[in-house]
Amino acid sequence: MKIHEYQAKELLGSFGVAVPKGGVAYTSAEARAATEDLGGSAVVKVQVHAGGRGKAGGVRLVESPEEAEAAAEELIGNNIVTLQTGPAGAPVKSVLVEEILELERELYLSVIIDGSIGRTIIIASESGGMEIEEVAAETPEKIHQAVLDPIIGYQPFQGRALATDMELNTAESRAFSALLANLLSAFSSRDCSMIEINPLVITKDGRLLAADAKVNFDDNGIFRQSENSELRDGDQEDPLERQANDQGIQYIKLDGDVGCMVNGAGLAMATMDLTQAAGLSPANFLDVGGGASEEQITAAYQLIVSDPSVKKVLVNIFGGILRCDVLANGIVAAYKDGSIDIPLVIRMTGTNWEDGQQILRDSGIKCAIVNDLEEVPDAVRNA
Ligand code: GDP
Ligand code: MN
Repeated sequence: MKIHEYQAKELLGSFGVAVPKGGVAYTSAEARAATEDLGGSAVVKVQVHAGGRGKAGGVRLVESPEEAEAAAEELIGNNIVTLQTGPAGAPVKSVLVEEILELERELYLSVIIDGSIGRTIIIASESGGMEIEEVAAETPEKIHQAVLDPIIGYQPFQGRALATDMELNTAESRAFSALLANLLSAFSSRDCSMIEINPLVITKDGRLLAADAKVNFDDNGIFRQSENSELRDGDQEDPLERQANDQGIQYIKLDGDVGCMVNGAGLAMATMDLTQAAGLSPANFLDVGGGASEEQITAAYQLIVSDPSVKKVLVNIFGGILRCDVLANGIVAAYKDGSIDIPLVIRMTGTNWEDGQQILRDSGIKCAIVNDLEEVPDAVRNA
């Protein structure tokens, strides 16, 4: 789950991470007033769940409250398209209005969970700012890492070593280590999956602050982090993903045109690998879960077909706790209002599979039933 920069900065600030003075504005009048409060100049930044705002004109340095008002007027209420939003862009509902920092240096700092080693890692660079992707690609020696031991946790020498790698002086190194310790405390206390500070700035007057902040929460920790879920902004999420989330369905939108309904994350991954390997392209990842009800199946099916890029649907179910007759009834119910006209390939096996197939045949729904996973690609191609 992603949150806005202003929320991330409030959160990090509460853990003692230094952030610029400022606050969120929902109207141009509020942006103007906030700029007055800051002494007449400010940085006005669109609040969307995506980076790349600077290059897209979403970060403005303004020299007067009037300029702030005009910038907010222009930005709020429109979509902004950045390299990270996709062509439709993201809707701007608010701007963050902050003190202008006199930048001496822009550093990079992030904390993520590296799934390949199952550990939290810290990434830091002396070359932060808007070109960090190029830095990583062209001068990887400027990207430094530290791996946290899951039992011991963060050790201060790791912060000092990263500071040395970035060629910080003694005072900067101290400030960096302290900031990093606070950042890591926020990371673990709030079940984050990623925190990225780019840029982490050193100002001309020697302060070290988080000039930008991206915080992602681990969705699997949300159940025990009610404060995290309060920060959700559904307007920034893919509408289908949001609807799925509300219905308790694991759904991730992808780029292809074959809608997939599968039960179990492992089978879902295998099904997607299979379709991909056969030259087909999944439109989504969808796991209805082990014990889905008929109603949930219907909802999941309707969700898949409501995606305009879906041209065919593939259902691949292993009936364990979820019985195949329940699955079939759920699908048939989705067709009740007669609006679905998309070819369907269905492979089901396990508990009550014969009943399930019979229900589908009796329903009159146009679908290809296959028994073997290997038959799936051809069946989808021919559907
Ligand atoms: P992003 O492009 O979405 O990652 O947005 P950022 O918050 O990182 O802002 C982009 C760039 O704007 C930064 O890399 C800085 O160079 C610049 N910037 C942001 N805040 C300030 C500021 O207070 N003062 C100055 N001089 N530049 C800033
Ligand atoms: Mn940034």
